[in-house]
Amino acid sequence: MQFSYRPMLLELRHPFRLATGSRTHTQAMLTTIRLGDHIGIGEAAMPPYYGETQETASAFLEMAARLLASPTSHLDNIDDLMRQVDAIAPGNNAAKAAVDIALHDLRGKISEKPLWQLLGTNPDQMPKTSFTLGMDTPAILRKKLSEATGFHLIKVKLGSADDRQIIRTIREVSDLPIYADANQGWHDRNAALELIHWLAEQQVQLIEQPTPKNDLDAAAWLTERSPLPIIADESFQRLSDLDRVANCFHGVNIKLMKCTGLSEGIQIAAAARARGLKLMVGCMTETSCGILAAATLAPLCDFADIDGCWLIQNNPFALPTLEEGRVVLPNEPGLGLSNA
Ligand code: MG
Repeated sequence: MQFSYRPMLLELRHPFRLATGSRTHTQAMLTTIRLGDHIGIGEAAMPPYYGETQETASAFLEMAARLLASPTSHLDNIDDLMRQVDAIAPGNNAAKAAVDIALHDLRGKISEKPLWQLLGTNPDQMPKTSFTLGMDTPAILRKKLSEATGFHLIKVKLGSADDRQIIRTIREVSDLPIYADANQGWHDRNAALELIHWLAEQQVQLIEQPTPKNDLDAAAWLTERSPLPIIADESFQRLSDLDRVANCFHGVNIKLMKCTGLSEGIQIAAAARARGLKLMVGCMTETSCGILAAATLAPLCDFADIDGCWLIQNNPFALPTLEEGRVVLPNEPGLGLSNA
């Protein structure tokens, strides 16, 4: 297998403000794996808070390229191949996902099957996906909402003193159900619980990462009392984290860029269900490549937030189709990506 990669800077349509900071770009890498006449495409999207950059990804992918070029690397067991990729170096989770996604796309193309069929996920069970709004002024929030056509759910970033005002602004113009993501921004558990009760009255349907990622006591305290499901995002990255968080949240947010890709994502879904957890599939700001990969996992999940490719303005691929607020899984082989 012949592996190559190139850096790409994803340009956001609007500056994206979270409880943890603001940004206008996301560093990314696009990867390709060639075998005979077939090419698989993958992607690493690397928001700054997980510590990966184009530089760290290049260094890692250079080593992955050598592994994949070896005659003993076979495409017929991607899980095994990804265990070897994982063992190259710790961390580098998004770079690993870029290898994993390209391998899966390639295998789908060679076997002439859509990826969802290869992975055994059912497009009929696709949950609706939310459209994400950063923290903004009422005028910008209204403008962004007008860009959310085709989506039936809104995800809103909370975690500041303006939380109630943000929700009121949205409720002035939209009655769509809301997912709220506090991005670790709530530090007083009693105030957080009071806010969650208020949010429930505003047709908010879940709360993502209310408290700081390492304060599992606070998360468990809220989870025990909250009328809404509490989902771990920053507190949960990989399968090996599951036991640590399983009793502190109602569910976990699987993101391919955190968990090294589809091989481990599928394992997390099974292991989380076995522990009685709810499942959300999320994303970073990504091209259609990462989003369609995440969409193949989405039918295993209760909630989907896979709108990253609608938030950037230089997506090299065609946008996925939305139907009734759901991402449509293509019937073409592999991910079913086409050029923009
Ligand atoms: Mg989140």
